[in-house]
Amino acid sequence: MPLFKKVLYPTDFSDLAEVALDYVKKLKEAGAQEVVVLHVIHPLEFSLPQFDDPFALDVATIYAHIPEIEKAILESHEEALKKIEEELKGLGFKVKTVMTVGEPADEIVNVAKQEQVKVIVMGYHGKGLLERILEMGSTTRAVIEKAHCPVLVVKKEG
Ligand code: ATP
Ligand code: MN
Repeated sequence: MPLFKKVLYPTDFSDLAEVALDYVKKLKEAGAQEVVVLHVIHPLEFSLPQFDDPFALDVATIYAHIPEIEKAILESHEEALKKIEEELKGLGFKVKTVMTVGEPADEIVNVAKQEQVKVIVMGYHGKGLLERILEMGSTTRAVIEKAHCPVLVVKKEG
C-alpha cells in the first residue's frame, strides 16, 4: 500500500493554504489517492450569544442561529471547499470535504484520526520574535504536537 495513500488537507482558504494545496497535488506521485479537505469554523467568528458553549455546536446549528449576512460567509466557505474538491477530482483523487466547528488544531487532529489519514499537509508562516514569544499562529505547531501521523509543513517562501 502506498505510504501516503490518504491525505488530510486542512484549509483556512488563505494564500498559504493554497501553497500547501500544490503539495497535496504533488503527493499523487508518492501514491496519494484520497484527500479529505477540511475547514474548521471557529464558533467565535459568528454571533451566537444564546449558547453557553458554542464549541459544542455543529455546522447545522450554527446555520440555524446566525443572521443572513453571516450565512453568506458560511456558504462561501462551502463553495470554496467544493471548488477544491472539483480541482482535486479533476486530477484523479477521491475527495471528501468536511466542515466542522471547534478549535482548528484540535479539529484537524480529530478528523485526521477519525479518517485514518496517513499524512496531514498544511501551511506554516515563519514567525518573528514577538509572535514566537506570544505563541501566535500556532495552529500548525499544535497539530505537529498532537497528530497521530506525520505532518508535511509547507512554508510560503524559503
Ligand atoms: P494566525 O492564525 O495567528 O493569523 P496563521 O493563520 O498565519 O496565523 P495558522 O493559523 O497556524 O497560521 O495556519 C496555518 C495553516 O493551518 C493554514 O495554512 C491551514 O492549512 C491551517 N489552518 C489554519 N486555520 C484553519 C482552519 N480554521 N481550518 C482548517 N485549516 C486551518
Ligand atoms: Mn490562523
